[in-house]
Amino acid sequence: MDGVSFSLNAGETLGLVGESGSGKTTTCLSIVGLLPRGARIVGGSVVFEGEDLTRKSQRELRRIRGRRIAVILQDPMASLNPLFTIFRQVAEPAFFHQQMRGKTLRQRVKSLLAAVRIPSPEWRMRDYPHQMSGGMRQRIVGAIALAGGPSLVIADEPTTNLDVTIQAQYLDLLKDIQRETGVALIFVTHNLGIVAKMCDRVAVMYGGTIVEQGPVRAIFDDPKHPYTQALLGSIPKLGSRDPLYAIPGQPPNLASLPTGCAFHPRCPQAMERCAIDEPTNVHAGDGSVARCWLLAPAAAPSHG
Ligand code: SF4
Repeated sequence: MDGVSFSLNAGETLGLVGESGSGKTTTCLSIVGLLPRGARIVGGSVVFEGEDLTRKSQRELRRIRGRRIAVILQDPMASLNPLFTIFRQVAEPAFFHQQMRGKTLRQRVKSLLAAVRIPSPEWRMRDYPHQMSGGMRQRIVGAIALAGGPSLVIADEPTTNLDVTIQAQYLDLLKDIQRETGVALIFVTHNLGIVAKMCDRVAVMYGGTIVEQGPVRAIFDDPKHPYTQALLGSIPKLGSRDPLYAIPGQPPNLASLPTGCAFHPRCPQAMERCAIDEPTNVHAGDGSVARCWLLAPAAAPSHG
């Protein structure tokens, strides 16, 4: 991955979008130092509350993860331990990071479960994950994420396994929690409808880099990058009888990216230079930035 650069203010939501394999999850894992074996950060920085996380030891990162930065993964069953009660799992971050014990801890778990709209939290905290519905389990994962009082939550496709009604409720809940706590949110999704509903800004990823980013309104109203245009063009339209548009070809393998612009084999507007030279960031007047030769003056591309 290369050229992944973005910033996020307190209380803001950034949507990371792109097809599977574009590098969204790897970006998130890089932030919290949880890259899989064989992957490593070779350059750049991850600055969180003034500190560069790439310079922290695993021990220091463990103190940040779960407390100041929390991660919500897409499969709640994979995040919850089937052998432990809900109480034990929600209590763990407050137990380890905030040294809460006894009645205070119990009260904290109860209020966290109430915050994620679990009915009768006093009773339900004694349950095991298999005694809860999919939507409830996802909310429990949300409660665990909030338990350490984080200032950043990274939510990686948290609604993928939920049906549409439960999904809408869960998104409303996340918004409410964000309003109440001021937590910043990185929301990873391939669903542009969710981005429009949830996010202040959006970064579109392709081939291990961010190809376009900016305020949600600017990107939705006037997408500059052909890939963003294609993504928006492939959203089904209610009542339309036109065939659904699909982006031709397959996303590239990150280990062997095409030369020049990684999107050129699939881009309907590709030019000769696109296969040779890698495009640089170009700032548009509306606050968005896109990485495409169509936007750069032919002789002097601007750098971002
Ligand atoms: Fe298409 Fe060329 Fe722009 Fe890449 S740089 S998106 S190939 S026009």
